Amino acid sequence: MSKVEAILSQLKDIAANPKKAMDDYKAETGKGAVGIMPIYAPEELVHATGYLPMGIWGAQGKSISKARTYLPAFACSIMQQVMELQCEGAYDDLATVIFSVPCDTLKCLSQKWKGTSPVIVFTHPQNRGLEAANQFLVTEYELIKTQLEANLGVKITNGALENSIVVYNENRAVMREFVQVAAEYPQVIDAVSRHAVFKARQFMLKEKHTALVKELIAEVKATPAQPWDGKKVVVTGILLEPNELLDIFNEFKIAIVDDDLAQESRQIRVDVLDGQEGPLYRLAKSWQQMYGCSVATDTKKGRGKMLINKTIQTGADAIIVAMMKFCDPEEWDYPVMYREFEEKGIKSLMIEVDQEVSSFEQVKTRLQSFVEML
Ligand code: SF4
Repeated sequence: MSKVEAILSQLKDIAANPKKAMDDYKAETGKGAVGIMPIYAPEELVHATGYLPMGIWGAQGKSISKARTYLPAFACSIMQQVMELQCEGAYDDLATVIFSVPCDTLKCLSQKWKGTSPVIVFTHPQNRGLEAANQFLVTEYELIKTQLEANLGVKITNGALENSIVVYNENRAVMREFVQVAAEYPQVIDAVSRHAVFKARQFMLKEKHTALVKELIAEVKATPAQPWDGKKVVVTGILLEPNELLDIFNEFKIAIVDDDLAQESRQIRVDVLDGQEGPLYRLAKSWQQMYGCSVATDTKKGRGKMLINKTIQTGADAIIVAMMKFCDPEEWDYPVMYREFEEKGIKSLMIEVDQEVSSFEQVKTRLQSFVEML
């Protein structure tokens, strides 16, 4: 096995076994894990406690039954899965769960948490141009900090938090470089591998993830890039999984050369800036710098233009919209984006992502036809 294959295999294992990643971390450090509900939370605060931040992104192919008691059938697919798992006690080992509530579904879910872990709920202000919004979010983060300290019995010092900010900024920078490398080497970093590198960062300490991804990048870049004779796409949406779906991309030689997925590049888009202000203020300020995301209000609707720019810059043939089933914020963005793609003559395809589904024949047919049309 080559070094590249070995690193990818390690990351794929972690991505596929979050429970094991958490148990290993507990055994190694004596500390537990804190759940991070999608889409954004100040993970640096959790990192500064020494606990492991663990992303909560549902599950694939699980049939929904218990969740129907608490959520309407038209709640988004990912939160149906999260509710089902809660009812089964899947998150009860988490020391705490942090919730931001930017959409109606998350608001409902935060009030109906069925697990035994304590829950911390906070709000990202949506009028993001105001200094008052920064101040409001600082207050929210102070409350998270106080509750985390109480729940975990750990004091979060400014020094620890500054260190965590540096660790996260470095990880985001390395992942942005990884996105470019994956685009240059689609034969080496295929759609499944690319996703695993992103997903593993949800279940690992970021400094460990950074070290592995740096090693991966160095190994991949040590060989010359080969011309790609397939198609290239930019993908957008909440998430694009499972591997069975990404295997179809590989089968039809569709390389993902950039993404705007909430689970992937939206997590690494914006850094926490240096400055004279305290760490909580700078963490809050990064929310105002976020752009191109359906849950971060943008009255100018810049997401479509951002995707068009990504398509032009990467030389992509098309944009694939991975529409999370029944996700209102994503559905609201789509008509505006679609009109802009059409006006610019950019080809696009919308596919539905439903975490309850375990058969992908329909998506396969649509992707195959789309590639032939391109
Ligand atoms: S943003 Fe969309 S996918 Fe995420 S919880 Fe809200 S409705 Fe569901």
